[in-house]
Amino acid sequence: MPPWPSRDKLRVTNVRTFVTAPEGTPLVVVRVETSELGLYGLGCATFTQRYAAVAAAVDEHVGPLVVGRHPADIEDITRLIHYSAYWRNGPVLNNALSGIDQALWDIAGKRAGMPVYELLGGRSRAGVEVYTHAAGATIDETLARAEQFIGEGYRSVRLQVGGPGIGTYGAPGTLGGYPRSPHPDGWDPERYLRTTPALFAAARERLGLGVNLMHDVHSRLTPKQAVVLARALEPYQLSFLEDVIAPEYYDRLPEVRAASPVPIAIGEQLGSLPDAVRLIRDGGVDLLRLHTSSVGGLTPTRKLVALAELLAVRTAFHSPGDISPIGVAANLAVDVSTPAFGYQESHTYNDATHEVFPGTPVVREGHLYPSDAPGWGVDLDEKAAAAFPPTKFLHERWSAGVRRPDGSLDAP
Ligand code: MG
Repeated sequence: MPPWPSRDKLRVTNVRTFVTAPEGTPLVVVRVETSELGLYGLGCATFTQRYAAVAAAVDEHVGPLVVGRHPADIEDITRLIHYSAYWRNGPVLNNALSGIDQALWDIAGKRAGMPVYELLGGRSRAGVEVYTHAAGATIDETLARAEQFIGEGYRSVRLQVGGPGIGTYGAPGTLGGYPRSPHPDGWDPERYLRTTPALFAAARERLGLGVNLMHDVHSRLTPKQAVVLARALEPYQLSFLEDVIAPEYYDRLPEVRAASPVPIAIGEQLGSLPDAVRLIRDGGVDLLRLHTSSVGGLTPTRKLVALAELLAVRTAFHSPGDISPIGVAANLAVDVSTPAFGYQESHTYNDATHEVFPGTPVVREGHLYPSDAPGWGVDLDEKAAAAFPPTKFLHERWSAGVRRPDGSLDAP
């Protein structure tokens, strides 16, 4: 217990984790309960490829540190969790930390009767502009999909093509829906460099200049190849080029960014706060793509975003289907309150997810808006969640299946 008296008798009484997969992707949520009837908080701890390890970290190691504490001591509790492992950081421990951290912020909002964004200083914008993913097997299919999204009100679209070598993820198709690039063609970076500009030339021709375009390299280029691609894409005025190199080589990002005429968006694979600080401090990023639970939740994220604001870096937080709607709500609280906001990635959840997570944010005219309800404004229906138990295989197949034409394994 901390060496200061609490101003009331409110205490954390229980910490529990839930793993639910209403879209097939395991989502991890932490519930922190208190001594006040009906007062609890929810936090996102989703590391979908290692969900059982996160749940064990919370249930076996972290939860017991929190029970008995006053839920308002968020800074102290999260520092305690961080230091108590001695060997710290990494996506497993940081997601466990995030689950607790976000749940405590949810409780803080509910106690104050305010949405969390008001605790962060209130709104600095009316809504959160999101981008979505248009992908197809051919350029034509991708652009038809993009036109559909633009018709629904999106102003920002990320373009990927699944044909062999053209602008694709290059992974075999899975139930999760990554575009197909059939073996034995494999992932050929040189072919990719030659063909990707054609996608964006066609896109500007067909979609015009009124739409923001993005592209995700998915970590598979060398630093020099990243510069070659960025220069080739310069005429097509991309809003950003995402994940140009793998996290193993992030210390080369300052040179890539300095030579790139296209803004560099990167950071979803960061697993520690100090790594994220280095990325911003050393000039390696234009748009910071945090998977916020992997750096430890809202508390470290708000510090990074303050640093980003002061150094003219903007945000573009990671948020496809492998983040729970609780995590989306946490992203939105930051997005709507920080002057450093750039873009927000968006995902349209299926009906089952809305049933499991009442209050799941919905995209309207290309924007997301945080709930005005106290806390996150997103709940978890435990009974509905139990109907969607996680499976151990499909969610990680896409990240383990990228091979070159010669059969060698490449970064996912
Ligand atoms: Mg990415």
